[in-house]
Amino acid sequence: MTPDRVVVVGASIGGVRTAQALRAGGFGGDIMIIGAELTEPYDKPPLSKQVLAGEQNADDIALLGAAGWAGERLDGRLGSPAVDLDTESKEVLLADGQRIGYDALVIATGVRARTLTTEANQLVHTVRELRDATALRQRMLGGGPVVVVGGGFIGAEVAASAVALGAQAAIVESLPTPFTRVLGPAVGALMTELHESFGVSVLGGAAVARVEQLTDGTGIVHLADGRRLAAGTVVVGIGCVPNTEWLHSSGLPLDDGVITDQHCAVPGAEDVYAIGDVARWYDVHDGTHRRVEHWTNAVEQAHLVAHNILAPGDLRPHTKAPYFWSDQYGMKIQMAGRIEADDRVDLLRCTIPAGDRHVAVYSRHGKFSAAVTFGWPRAIAACRRSWERAATVDEVHQQIQGLATKVTAVETR
Ligand SMILES: Cc1cc2nc3c(=O)[nH]c(=O)nc-3n(C[C@H](O)[C@H](O)[C@H](O)COP(=O)(O)OP(=O)(O)OC[C@H]3O[C@@H](n4cnc5c(N)ncnc54)[C@H](O)[C@@H]3O)c2cc1C
Repeated sequence: MTPDRVVVVGASIGGVRTAQALRAGGFGGDIMIIGAELTEPYDKPPLSKQVLAGEQNADDIALLGAAGWAGERLDGRLGSPAVDLDTESKEVLLADGQRIGYDALVIATGVRARTLTTEANQLVHTVRELRDATALRQRMLGGGPVVVVGGGFIGAEVAASAVALGAQAAIVESLPTPFTRVLGPAVGALMTELHESFGVSVLGGAAVARVEQLTDGTGIVHLADGRRLAAGTVVVGIGCVPNTEWLHSSGLPLDDGVITDQHCAVPGAEDVYAIGDVARWYDVHDGTHRRVEHWTNAVEQAHLVAHNILAPGDLRPHTKAPYFWSDQYGMKIQMAGRIEADDRVDLLRCTIPAGDRHVAVYSRHGKFSAAVTFGWPRAIAACRRSWERAATVDEVHQQIQGLATKVTAVETR
């Protein structure tokens, strides 16, 4: 039966897109979006890029605006987080004491950034919310070197934005080779080259022992091996923690996220779904539960859940190929598929009319597992389709040959 009232907890891309997809699918009942932040819902990817660099502001990244709330007939409760859930009475409890009843509930509470335990709080920043990006930008404009802790995508984007603001930047990573955790050594080396070509120092095997704040407001990052880095700003990009504390007494299955089935429905709880960064969903491709912190995943699951709420007789599983992008120094780095640590990687240099582009093709036992492209959206779109039809690695190589005028194998690992 289609519900009369859908409540969405989490007012960012996953939550807002769910509400919009419900309306687009013809849902005429009540929709309420509950958000912990008082700020109007906004999109997060620009925070470490255009917002930090000063190219976009809060209005540019707004997801709804006044017209959006009214046009989609959405009710909002912003600034009072959900603190508990009763699946028996079908109610969400808010911090201000309100109880919100639902017929269907969509959990889209995302994740929050991990940080360092330090007393140098003025100096040390993370980037997850708009206010983080605004404070970080102000701090970086104050001058001094920027030390980024963690060689992941957000850290890399912050370093690129720091360079755009004219700052000296360094990335420190505890692994011997930065950027290898997700991408492997061949692509990690390419990323390192890209950053170094813009003057960023990339330090591998560099664990942070402590951050010292000096009396003039600047600081020193002390590495475990005794090296010391002067810092005007320290930015920490060492991963995230799912926002599930409010569900601890709800009885929902939690395990580094909210467990769902392949339809994004939470087992054992009637009419409860979880999507986006907070959801650990069942992946029918390999029979495991996984949590993915990618924008496109949140949007696709939002559409999927809206469909599954509206058409309970035609439930659809989440089977889209994973897709992620990152913008650094004007270069779009894109990934489609799923990389495992022991994948074979063929690094290719492809000539297209616009110039030379690097592509990394990942495979396992002859089966295509993922691709990473540097500045070549057309190739990644083709690779994403290939992943969805379980193409072989040879088919993907042929496809790339067909898109380029010349392909040179750089290395295979
Ligand atoms: C700086 C940055 C850059 C990024 N860049 C990229 C990129 O280039 N490409 C890409 O693919 N992905 C990128 N991502 C990831 C992408 O933004 C996320 O995958 C996406 O935002 C996930 O959406 P979500 O709605 O699931 O969760 P979130 O965006 O985390 O939103 C969850 C919302 O729920 C709210 N909330 C939390 N707890 C409660 C509660 N108890 N009650 C009510 N509300 C609550 C939070 O305040 C938050 O607004 C980036 C993320 C960040 C932070």
